[in-house]
Amino acid sequence: MLRDLSKFLKVDEEKENAIQDLLFKSQHTMLRSKKLVFAEERMEMCENLEFAPFTKFCPKCHREYPMDENVCYECLVALKDLSEKTPIHDIESKPIFRFSGENSLDDFESIFCESNVEKVNEFNINMNDLEKIIRNIKLTSLRNLDELINDNYVDLNGITILEKVLLFTKTFVNVEYKSYGQQLGYFEFETVTIDDRQTASLQITTMIHELSHFLLKEILVGVLCKLLDCASNRFIDVIVTYVLAYSNFTQLIDEYSAHCCEGRFTVYGYQDYSSFLNIIAQMDGEMSRDEIEITKSIGNTFANAIKDILEIFIDRDLREDIKSNFLNYHYESPNYEMLKLENCEMLTDEGFLKAIWLIISEGFAAAGENLEILNDYLEEVK
Ligand SMILES: [Zn+2]
Ligand SMILES: [Zn+2]
Repeated sequence: MLRDLSKFLKVDEEKENAIQDLLFKSQHTMLRSKKLVFAEERMEMCENLEFAPFTKFCPKCHREYPMDENVCYECLVALKDLSEKTPIHDIESKPIFRFSGENSLDDFESIFCESNVEKVNEFNINMNDLEKIIRNIKLTSLRNLDELINDNYVDLNGITILEKVLLFTKTFVNVEYKSYGQQLGYFEFETVTIDDRQTASLQITTMIHELSHFLLKEILVGVLCKLLDCASNRFIDVIVTYVLAYSNFTQLIDEYSAHCCEGRFTVYGYQDYSSFLNIIAQMDGEMSRDEIEITKSIGNTFANAIKDILEIFIDRDLREDIKSNFLNYHYESPNYEMLKLENCEMLTDEGFLKAIWLIISEGFAAAGENLEILNDYLEEVK
């Protein structure tokens, strides 16, 4: 079945060009002296040392004012106290994404009934449905963004690149910080955990990577809700979490997709390729070379859908800022050996739908037979 998908492959030109471009640019950025970066760092330090005697700000134009002022006469609004502005790092968010449907399936028994198994196998879904799912995710994120900005008086022009990506991440998931262990970050049950001791550029790449895991899961939640015509809930969520974790095939898709998104919004060739190389290693001959490549193409196709969502905020300007910031701190050239592992093929719409059918129908059947694991997951999302 997986091999059949090869007739639906096409070249992902954008990715191919991005890699070519990177190979060219990296030769030039190498020439950039460390001295220059050092000077920039010093300047940044000096800026941070500047004394700010202002304690109030205008909620409209964000200009800051001394304590004895009460009004911004330009915007004609009363001033607020600076303490009402929450640093982006500390803003709390628990965003909820919902899909609606006629049925409310509130336990595994009703989800895995005979007629639902049939519905999943029939797979009555088209590109239009998929676009609606993606639109729904975008809309919820943008609403959350609007709310976070308003509630916390965020001045988008006054925050760093890291803070922008962090704020955007908080429109999708709860963000927590850790200061232990080797792992840069992970995504688990609606929470992205990042190590905030790392450099800004590593935190950014990690957030984009983990956010991609969340978005792939959320797209599949939307697909399953559409197939079963049901509202999303934690049972559906847990099933999709299981589907993405139970086999090397789905793990590889999930990991390769996150890897591609990370590369696309930051820089190809500098990432840690071990995340998906480990999965390939643990497969131990389970899939042929060709099958692995097709599986990577599926991941790449998902990455394209996810990219579409991420671009509602990470526009071309922000993307360029992220990339140049990254290259300022990484003088080494991209790992040419590893770049060869990049797959620049993606599926046509027809092939993409067939791939999703394969993932969901096989995964749904496997989930139905492993209720114990699903119940364990359920404990985690409470
Ligand atoms: Zn003002
Ligand atoms: Zn990952």
